Amino acid sequence: MGETSETGLLAQVPDGLYIAGEWRAARSGRTFGVTDPSTGEVVKEIADAAVEDGVAALDAACEAFPSWSRTPARERAELLRDAYDLIQERAEDLALLMTIEMGKPLAESMAEVRYGGEFLRWFSEEAAHVQGRYGSNPEGTGRMIVTQHPVGPCYLVTPWNFPLAMATRKIAPALAAGCTAVVKPASQTPLTTTLFVRLLADAGLPAGVVNVITTTSSGPVSEAVISDPRLRKLSFTGSTEVGQKLLAQAAAGVLRTSMELGGNAPFVVFEDADLDKAVDGALAAKFRNIGEACTAANRFIVHASLAEEFARRVTDRVREFRTGRGTEEGVTIGPLIDERAVDKADELVQDALANGARLRVGGGRIDRRGTFYEATVLSDVAAGSRILREEVFGPVLAITRFTDEDEAVRLANDTEFGLVSYVYTRDLARGQRMVERLETGMMGLNVGVVSNPAAPFGGWKLSGLGREGGAEGIHEYLQTKYTLTPDPFA
Ligand code: NAD
Repeated sequence: MGETSETGLLAQVPDGLYIAGEWRAARSGRTFGVTDPSTGEVVKEIADAAVEDGVAALDAACEAFPSWSRTPARERAELLRDAYDLIQERAEDLALLMTIEMGKPLAESMAEVRYGGEFLRWFSEEAAHVQGRYGSNPEGTGRMIVTQHPVGPCYLVTPWNFPLAMATRKIAPALAAGCTAVVKPASQTPLTTTLFVRLLADAGLPAGVVNVITTTSSGPVSEAVISDPRLRKLSFTGSTEVGQKLLAQAAAGVLRTSMELGGNAPFVVFEDADLDKAVDGALAAKFRNIGEACTAANRFIVHASLAEEFARRVTDRVREFRTGRGTEEGVTIGPLIDERAVDKADELVQDALANGARLRVGGGRIDRRGTFYEATVLSDVAAGSRILREEVFGPVLAITRFTDEDEAVRLANDTEFGLVSYVYTRDLARGQRMVERLETGMMGLNVGVVSNPAAPFGGWKLSGLGREGGAEGIHEYLQTKYTLTPDPFA
């Protein structure tokens, strides 16, 4: 697609806040620019919400809640299903928009559109399956009735790295459960979410059920919404640091919370692994989304007998990568989201090198417009290097060695995070032992990518609370009521 069609597509994205079924300017009239990270140019100006806009969005969500929560589940499901179909129809536009504002290669944006769309289909199927229980109490003196109810108006906050999927993973279960929502996308990537919500409106979403506020004042706007006693639920995906702040704010209202936070995934390759598959899995686990994924493998922990061969093979493959604007043919690595992300990746690489790591390929910024960093492989990374503790969130693959299973487990678990781990082994019993010993909410056992709308996504330790997707996902938006009635025969 050429520049004209990009301009045409950008013109189709509403530039207002979506509140109570209307696209509105921010009350202050302020706007902010959304940047293409591959060029550094502003591609569109959109409304910059202030606190009063956030409160107006919550007003709308509260007003819409009684009627939406009583809408039959089947009707809610059909709306989600129609929205799924619209996403398929507009897949190319959504993918292009995502590449423009976030930077990932077009093929990966298309994969995210498919993945993100699946949450609508999955939760359209779950909506009508919410059930309760009815039974006698053990004493036989009464009947116990257990029912499920939507929690109420929700505040959904999403990050910039998966602009569509992180929104649908929250909006779809909220709507399926009968909740209404205020959605706040990341200020770096608000356009994909905005276009998606326009599609939801086209699918017939009643006014006020979903409201979107785009803002550069995330802190004050979020604090006002979270501290409002009418809000009943906060679902956040982003960094652990911001998540902890919002959790503290949510404590005052004892809000239900779902927190999908940072990761620091270990990728363990045992001496009995199928090396070809481990290398394929490693490249997917590391370089998908330019390394900017919470599930990205951050620490490659490889048995000493294989470490050299593994490093050589991944390096050969990384040399074949092509870096550039995500819309260009054959590009596999796009720009990082901003200058700060480039600085962070470079700092971690320089620190590892200063601690004795060996640079196999890459290792620096790319001297061109935009915020690009070279796809990098480091081996022999020393214990104590920052890259083993901090999420690199960029295209940097860092390898360390181990010699026995206990050491592998100790190294893999040596982090305060616990989102996902990856293990490659052909020994079934060893694989099962790792399932039991690694402290993560998810695991790829001989697989480099685990995300699936039908699976419960979420972390242990500082990686979060709650689960998104799977049979569990809708329960994050439901609350349980137990009712006792006397034995009808007494
Ligand atoms: P971030 O925490 O900076 O931002 C996340 C969201 O919070 C954005 O909408 C942002 O505008 C908002 N925000 C930022 N500061 C805020 C504040 N002071 N008060 C209220 N809101 C604020 O994270 P990010 O840089 O957008 O995303 C990257 C992080 O997200 C990584 O740590 C990554 O691991 C994590 N992540 C986790 C998952 C998961 O499912 N566990 C998925 C994707 C990303």
